[in-house]
Amino acid sequence: MSNRTFTMIKPDATSKGYTGAILDQIIKAGFTVKAMKWIKLSEEQAGLFYDIHRARPFFGELVDFMSSGPIVAAILEKENAVADFRDLIGATNPANAAEGTIRKNFAASIGENAVHGSDSDENAIIEGDFFFSKLERF
Ligand code: ATP
Ligand code: MG
Repeated sequence: MSNRTFTMIKPDATSKGYTGAILDQIIKAGFTVKAMKWIKLSEEQAGLFYDIHRARPFFGELVDFMSSGPIVAAILEKENAVADFRDLIGATNPANAAEGTIRKNFAASIGENAVHGSDSDENAIIEGDFFFSKLERF
């Protein structure tokens, strides 16, 4: 069982002023922040982060969106972090997200869905390492 996951608050949510409310919901759900930064990805960096989706029809749209404005990147800690955080954010498409989830509360569409959450322990480590040096995590 993992105790760390990685998240991003995506450009739609930062631009709408939802950053504080989303962080509040994350912390109230029991997650502790172990690393955090406010950063804007280049198209190339966004493409590398979502490299696994490169062949998908929505890849161009995803890269344009994820590099369109600032994001908050963070490493979060909690028992069973990866699975519990996926439950907290809800389904990829906010139309299918459960009541009370972050995507239900803050996301507009499947493309602009407010937050990212790692889908495995392995990817949580890879994604955290993509953004943070050892000096930046506690
Ligand atoms: P994330 O990885 O961002 O946490 P996810 O794991 O719920 O989201 P993925 O299947 O990994 O969903 O898709 C990555 C991201 O690509 C989605 O969050 C969304 O922003 C975008 N995306 C996925 N499917 C579509 C689609 N059909 N149309 C447009 N964008 C999409
Ligand atoms: Mg994913």
